[in-house]
Amino acid sequence: MNLRNCARCGKMFNYIGGQPICDPCKKAIEEDFQKVKQYIVDNPRAGLKQIAEDNQVTTKQIQQWIREERLMFTSDSPIQLQCENCGQLIQTGRFCAKCKGSMANNLNQTFAKPQPQIQQPVKKEQKAGMRFLDT
Ligand SMILES: [Zn+2]
Ligand SMILES: [Zn+2]
Repeated sequence: MNLRNCARCGKMFNYIGGQPICDPCKKAIEEDFQKVKQYIVDNPRAGLKQIAEDNQVTTKQIQQWIREERLMFTSDSPIQLQCENCGQLIQTGRFCAKCKGSMANNLNQTFAKPQPQIQQPVKKEQKAGMRFLDT
């Protein structure tokens, strides 16, 4: 058992991973999310503060949904999101498609690199060392 305090209501609950939020709160947040999502469809020109006030959620929570790419905004929305890397306007998430693509490439490269390359030079050194011992 891994007991933690829920980040939303403060009650102790059995933590199983992800966000430290208890099940009833997760359900409540999910209901809020559906409400906000529908609200944005009905009110595409609403700003962040207005959405938060009308739906009784925090702007922080809305921003988190944006980062999780769960909320999308149309181009006429006053909520203008910028790619955190290059500053291009985006509709959801933290980065534009281009930056996300190059980041995925960088990740693949660092994952692919280490193993095969390191082994060869080590073998050569061993051989050289053995020859030196033989003579
Ligand atoms: Zn809770
Ligand atoms: Zn970008």
